[in-house]
Amino acid sequence: MTTAQRLAPFGQTIFAEITALAVKHDAVNLGQGFPNFDGPDFIKDAAIAAVRDGRNQYAPTNGIPELRAAIAAHFAARSGLDTAPDAVTVTSGCTEAIPATLLGLVDPGQEVVVFEPYYDSYRACIAMAGATPRFVTLRPPDFAFDPAELRAAFGPRTRAIIVNTPHNPSGKVFDRTELELIASLCRDHDVIAITDEVYEHLVFEGEHHTLAAFDGMAERTVTLSSLGKTFSLTGWKIGWAIAPPALAAGVRSAHQFLTYATATPLQHGAVAALRAPASYFEAFRAAYRRRRDQLVDGLSALGFGVRPPAGTYFVLADHTPFGFDDDVAFCRHLIEDAGVAAIPPSAFYHDPADGRTLVRFAFCKDEATLADALTRMERHLPALKR
Ligand code: GLN
Repeated sequence: MTTAQRLAPFGQTIFAEITALAVKHDAVNLGQGFPNFDGPDFIKDAAIAAVRDGRNQYAPTNGIPELRAAIAAHFAARSGLDTAPDAVTVTSGCTEAIPATLLGLVDPGQEVVVFEPYYDSYRACIAMAGATPRFVTLRPPDFAFDPAELRAAFGPRTRAIIVNTPHNPSGKVFDRTELELIASLCRDHDVIAITDEVYEHLVFEGEHHTLAAFDGMAERTVTLSSLGKTFSLTGWKIGWAIAPPALAAGVRSAHQFLTYATATPLQHGAVAALRAPASYFEAFRAAYRRRRDQLVDGLSALGFGVRPPAGTYFVLADHTPFGFDDDVAFCRHLIEDAGVAAIPPSAFYHDPADGRTLVRFAFCKDEATLADALTRMERHLPALKR
């Protein structure tokens, strides 16, 4: 009895693996990206009220009308597009929207362009769709891509490109020029863009640009995002796909058979979340900027090669000053001897050697937890090899 061929190569996701190790070694977990503080009461109260009011049966497969309207309004305000509630499909986290989109819109044998380092589920979901990934590498220190490499990745079999901005794990925020090039290639090759924008409200430098708002892109883009990061409710698993009718039909054809619908009372909570005032998003970003600076300053003082990320709640640092062979050996030492968990980024590259000098830390933790992690590393990291 073995795992099917399409999934066997991917093993267990790195996030589950590292969190299990963190628990086993009682390590401060800066690995898997989940806040160690709770989402706001006004959102939780709305979900609790929905449970008590008997909103506990299946939701409509595409989502409750109030939430689809709230998501459309939120997106329209940010993108300047005229987005109707009909364009929205509510999914069980962005993590479900990714396979729903790929399975619903990509045929076996077609190609999907994906930047690496990539969020690990993209690759497994491309494989589930029977498609072939074409990788374009973002290179440190600024995680820019080579435009020639991107152009070369597009060909007659290209069906889609996945664009994750702000980008996990690098913290890169794609700028206007980069997105213009991606848009022009999509138009020229008649390719669909699938964007993962779950960190859209976590931008510290520059601005978040949504690819759907670029010329000719609204009709060929599926925009994915979610509630979890923006409202510190990652366990709710509320996500969405926004797409024009022809593409939405594909997404829904898969979504109905994957999960049918998403937790009804939590959708009611999500409506309250998306009605939050602008001051919520400003305070949210300001708090994360402080956490980012605390972690980046601390890592830099310890001797890591590190730059402040422009977006997300992750820092990708260079661990090579400490003299370990690769990221897996470094993370093993960090968890077992220092008591701090982090993610080895080789899991995000098709050639793991490309990630060996790096380590990913999450800063979605309160100040005391970040300070504890930094103190543990100060005590237990080996002397710098200079
Ligand atoms: N998005 C989270 C991260 O990058 C992980 C989510 C998960 O574990 N599936 O850490």
